[in-house]
Amino acid sequence: MLFSLLLPQKVVFGWSKRGEFGELASELGTTAVVVHGSRTLHNSTLWAELMATLEEQGVRVVREIGIRREPTIEDVDSATAKVLSSSSPPDMVIGIGGGAAIDLAKAVSAMATNQQGESVRDYLEGVGKGLSIENAPLPMLAVPTTAGTGSEATKNAVISVDDPPCKKSLRSEKMVPKIILIDPELSVTVPPSVTAASGMDAITQLIESYISSRATPLTQSLCLEGLKHALPNMKRAFVDGTDQPARTAMAYAAFLSGVSLANSGLGMAHGIAAPLGAHCDVPHGLACATLLPIALKTNQTVSRKQQVVLGKLFAKNPHLSKENAIAASISHIENLCDDLSIPKRLRDLGVLKEQLNDIVTGSRGNSMNGNPRVLTDEELYSILEEHW
Ligand SMILES: [Zn+2]
Repeated sequence: MLFSLLLPQKVVFGWSKRGEFGELASELGTTAVVVHGSRTLHNSTLWAELMATLEEQGVRVVREIGIRREPTIEDVDSATAKVLSSSSPPDMVIGIGGGAAIDLAKAVSAMATNQQGESVRDYLEGVGKGLSIENAPLPMLAVPTTAGTGSEATKNAVISVDDPPCKKSLRSEKMVPKIILIDPELSVTVPPSVTAASGMDAITQLIESYISSRATPLTQSLCLEGLKHALPNMKRAFVDGTDQPARTAMAYAAFLSGVSLANSGLGMAHGIAAPLGAHCDVPHGLACATLLPIALKTNQTVSRKQQVVLGKLFAKNPHLSKENAIAASISHIENLCDDLSIPKRLRDLGVLKEQLNDIVTGSRGNSMNGNPRVLTDEELYSILEEHW
């Protein structure tokens, strides 16, 4: 057996655990930059409650930075400039929100201590000067609120690039947040459409990590644990956002998806989701949800063993035949997507047929490298055309 495992230093999980926010922050520093997403949370009494716990513990906030989209190069550069020009230099970063806020917080914490380049562009995979993160980033406390990307547990931040349109990762093992605080109650105000997209992102990450060519027995056990919780609770959290057990199960599954993907990689749904976002503005979770059944169908010939396990788990029937289990691994996900009103075809996501070539080219990256079935450009094009 051979594996390496990258994990955050400390994880605190539980309904109403946000009371420990200030105490956990004080373990990392005294002067903080706070990066946040959702306006709803920022304007709520919960926000005031969180900030009060910082004050009680003697943690001062020197900058607040808001982000309401997946971060761009300009977002990272301007946030880093703000951090570096703060009256007192911060010694920690707090990221509260969905994947975009946490990714921006991770990027800023790394850029604040790595200034060899002029822009984060110089550090992105496959673009710029190819610089790497040499210095330890500012220590970070991540507080995810959408139960989706699992970004709180991963080593990369996804950054949108304009020219050419693509999404690239700022990646370093040093970027895994030091402390994660997951309070599923913070997700009760997330609207159903975001709950569906981010929950399906987590489910896609768990399934792609499970069948990935880089999976290990350890990451696979985390994926099955996550799926066991996510599958029966995805629709419940979508239908009733205040459902405590469902929100808790989804937050747990999202965290496990982050740990597993950081250690095993992903697959074609994530590979294709990147150019769908960059060229067609499709939100990440929605792209993943539409692509997941397509990925399962495409991989079923080479990931038979894994899809048999998934099908039996989804159908809660250990006696299914292999063929029926593989079929169940796909049909359960298709039915779940129907329940959540996820579009089936790429054209329904706003993709134009003439964009398919760019999407094929843009899908070649770290995620696609983990796909169990190796696909030529021609094969990938015809799969996309079939589902357009
Ligand atoms: Zn994802």
